Amino acid sequence: MATLSNPRGLLTTVVVVLLGIAVAGGTLLWRQSVGAPTLEIDRSPRVVGRVLEVEVHARAQRGRLSTIRVVLEQGDRSHDLFASDSLKTTEATIPIPLRLREAGALEGEGRLLFYVGDDFWRPRGESPEAQLVLPVLVDLTPPPLEVRAATRYPEPGGAGLAVLASQGATEIYVEIQGHRFRAHPRGDEGLFVSLFAVPLDYDGQSTAVAIAEDEAGNRQRVELPAVIRARAMKTGSVDLSEEWLARRLPDLLAEDPDRVKEDVGAAFRRVSIDLRAEALRKRRELSEQSDDQAQWKGSFRQLPNSSVLSGFGVQRTYRLKGNTLDEKVHQGFDLASVRHARIPAANAGRVVWAGPLTIYGNAVVVDHGLGLLTLYGHCSSLQVQVGERVERGQILALTGATGLAVGDHLHFEVIVGGLPVTPLQWFDRAWIESHIESVARDGGVDLRS
Ligand SMILES: [Zn+2]
Repeated sequence: MATLSNPRGLLTTVVVVLLGIAVAGGTLLWRQSVGAPTLEIDRSPRVVGRVLEVEVHARAQRGRLSTIRVVLEQGDRSHDLFASDSLKTTEATIPIPLRLREAGALEGEGRLLFYVGDDFWRPRGESPEAQLVLPVLVDLTPPPLEVRAATRYPEPGGAGLAVLASQGATEIYVEIQGHRFRAHPRGDEGLFVSLFAVPLDYDGQSTAVAIAEDEAGNRQRVELPAVIRARAMKTGSVDLSEEWLARRLPDLLAEDPDRVKEDVGAAFRRVSIDLRAEALRKRRELSEQSDDQAQWKGSFRQLPNSSVLSGFGVQRTYRLKGNTLDEKVHQGFDLASVRHARIPAANAGRVVWAGPLTIYGNAVVVDHGLGLLTLYGHCSSLQVQVGERVERGQILALTGATGLAVGDHLHFEVIVGGLPVTPLQWFDRAWIESHIESVARDGGVDLRS
C-alpha cells in the first residue's frame, strides 16, 4: 500500500484513481449519450378507418426494447390505442391492430403518435423514446351500399347478376363462400353490376353478400335477396391406359419419360394437382382483367353437330386397370364432332389467351366482359391471336387431342369471375334473358354501355 514514506507509490495511486474516475466518467457519459431505438412503420395511410393494421419495426441501439405505445391525438383529446412493455428483444417487427372506433376516436383530422423505449441504463434515469408522428384523417363511416336488383334463384355451378348502388367506395364486389366477383361501374350515377357464380361445391349455408369498401377500410355488407339450394353431384368414371399415360404425361410434366414410366399413376396425380392449380390461377387472372362492358349478344353457340361426351359438374373417377388414380369434378363440356372440326367463338368478345395452357393443351380463351370467359381446350391448331376481337361464330381453332385428352374433342368451359359454370345456362337464350338481362333492366342499367 502507498504511504507518505513512499512518494512514488502515492503518485502511482493518484494516477490509477484518476484513470479510474476518467474511465467511469467516460462510461457514464457514453451511457447517457446512447440514443433511442430506431422506429419504422410499414405504411403511412392518409385516411384511416375503424381499425388500422400496422406493422411496427423497432431496433434498440443498446440494451433491449421495452415499451411500445400508440396514441391518437385529436385537438386536445388523446386516445390510447396500444401499449405493451413485454418486448424484451433487441429488434422486433410487431403487427399492431389499432382499434380507433373502440378507443373513442372522432371523425376528422388527427395525429397518430408511435413511441418505443429501451431498458438500457442511463445515469440521468429517463431513457429517450423513439417517436414517430403520422398525420391522419379519421373516417369511420362505411360507404353506402344498396342492392337494386339480383338474380333470385342462382344455382350451384351457375351464374347470377347483381345491380348495386354505392358512392365513395374503392372496392365493390359480391362474395359467395370466399369467392369474390368484382363489380363493374355502369354510367356515372354510382351504379355497378357484378356477374357472380355460385361455386359447384356450394356448402348449402353461405349467403351471397354485396360488399363495398372505402379507402379507410370501412366495409358495408348487404345480403343479396338470393335463394341458393345445394345440389347433388353426378358421378362418372374415365378408364385410362398405361400406354396412353406413358405417351402423354412426359410432355405435360416436362419430365423424363423413364421417370414417368416408373409410376404412371403418381405422374398422373402430379399432373392432376399441379397443372390444374396452375390452370385455376390462370383463369382467375384472365377474369380479373375482363372488360367492363358486356360483349356478348344473344345465346352462346355450341360446337355445331357435336354430341356431349361428358357434362358439367360430373364427379369423375380416373381409373387405371380398375384402380382409382384420382377424383376430379369436370368443369366443362366435352363435345365431340368430326376430327379437326372447326370451333366457332361461342359469342362476341376479345381473345385473351391463345396457346398451350396446362392440361387443356392448345387453348383459346375469349373474354366476353364482366368477368365472363369461354375456354376452348385440346385444340390441334389455333387460328386467332391474343388481343383479336372476334364475332359470334368466327372460327377460333380446330379440335384435337392436345393436353390431357383421350381422343379428338373440344373441352368447352364457361367461366365467371374465375369459377367454371354450366354452359347450359349460356346456350339458353331464355335463361340469359330471365336470369341476367332482365335483372340488369330491373336495376336500371344497360350491360353494354
Ligand atoms: Zn373436358
